[in-house]
Amino acid sequence: MVQVSNHMPTAELQALDSAHHMHPFTQGAGLRAKGPRVITRAEGCWLTDSEGERILDAMAGLWCVNIGYGRKELADAAARQMQELPYYNTFFQTTHVPAIALAQRIAELAPGDLNHVFFASSGSEANDTNIRLVRTYWDAKGQPDRNVIIARWNGYHGSSVGSGSLGGMKGMHAQGGMPIPDIHHINQPHWWNEGGEMSPEEFGLARARELETAIEQIGPDRVGAFIAEPVQGAGGVIIPPSTYWPEIQRIVDKYGILLIADEVICGFGRTGNWFGSQTMNIRPHIMTIAKGLSSGYQPIGGSVVCDEVAEVIAGVEFNHGYTYSGHPVACAVALENLRILDEEGIVTRVATDTGPYLKEKFESLADHPLVGEARIVGMMGSIALTPDKASRAQFAAEAGTVGYITRERCFANNLIMRHVYDRMIISPPLVISRDEIDTLIERAWKSLDEAHARLK
Ligand code: PLP
Repeated sequence: MVQVSNHMPTAELQALDSAHHMHPFTQGAGLRAKGPRVITRAEGCWLTDSEGERILDAMAGLWCVNIGYGRKELADAAARQMQELPYYNTFFQTTHVPAIALAQRIAELAPGDLNHVFFASSGSEANDTNIRLVRTYWDAKGQPDRNVIIARWNGYHGSSVGSGSLGGMKGMHAQGGMPIPDIHHINQPHWWNEGGEMSPEEFGLARARELETAIEQIGPDRVGAFIAEPVQGAGGVIIPPSTYWPEIQRIVDKYGILLIADEVICGFGRTGNWFGSQTMNIRPHIMTIAKGLSSGYQPIGGSVVCDEVAEVIAGVEFNHGYTYSGHPVACAVALENLRILDEEGIVTRVATDTGPYLKEKFESLADHPLVGEARIVGMMGSIALTPDKASRAQFAAEAGTVGYITRERCFANNLIMRHVYDRMIISPPLVISRDEIDTLIERAWKSLDEAHARLK
């Protein structure tokens, strides 16, 4: 048997990886040719790779390590829970203390009357739950035809067949028979790319009103819910114009459809409040949560549900659940993570201290010749790469090429930033310090310079 360990030479690890490991959202052949970077440990905002290089992680893994890496308290919480009760389920009239405690704490933190939690192990699973919750709810209310869910092009809600259908990623829809029936997509509020001659405010209203048009076309008695991320993440950190969400809220109220806020990225402090719904001032009936709930230390997600929907669902047997819904170890770790976020004032710091500092520095990237706009809310931001700022032009070259080059330069400069086509995005751990923010901006600027030089 091969003993794989951190002590193996990088090339050997890469060879084994390429022989046996299939990577998500990756072209395998390309990866094999180049060899992935092997990450061996992490502390705070810093990763270490198998060559001993230290890399500043401005993406918090996949937008999830909100409290930073290496917090021993979470490892201790997991070890304690594994010794006491490593597993039990919450099916068939049983429960356990970690699930009770975590559900209670989430209900305390969540806005409005979002007082009930259905657990899953990921954001994708939670959004699959949401499809079934919405349809079961309307069915139980005697309106089974209200099974259409409206979502947005370029939204991201996960990678399972259900959640991938809610998402509006055309590349995903092209594979594996998505979307499933009765999911309808409207356009996104992406002013920089799609706003044309309109002001951001006009454009925000126009895009929100597409929801009303869609409801009228499909039929108000057919539409059950609208789902959206308060701020689109994987679509490129698209912060909607200020007019967008108030108009969506008006339409949702007018037609009495359920509003699902997908808080998988925005939740747990990312936008400077506990939830993005608070930052955008909206009143969802259901919130999807995952990622920052455990800071990624354990796989856990869930649907946070308002009183009325939970009451209706309680009246039927909801034939749905996962073996690991409310897994005790994941719950215990998430609880400890929420304690740290709260007691160390991390969410407040994003709102009033390091968040504003990052905003000022990040927005200065807009002065770079390659950058059009730089926008950020809390600790999620993006910059648009453009050949001409004034006209908001996009690169004519194959979509994503300049973004890819810039991302590669960042990687070479030991900075993890991600690109979505020609948009560069950040979502660092919420504990990033002022010094680390300076390093982030310096490395980003240097990488932009290098990418710019390549284009000449
Ligand atoms: N929803 C949003 C907004 C996300 O960003 C993601 C993942 O990036 C998901 C859902 C899916 O979560 P998971 O990857 O945990 O299934």
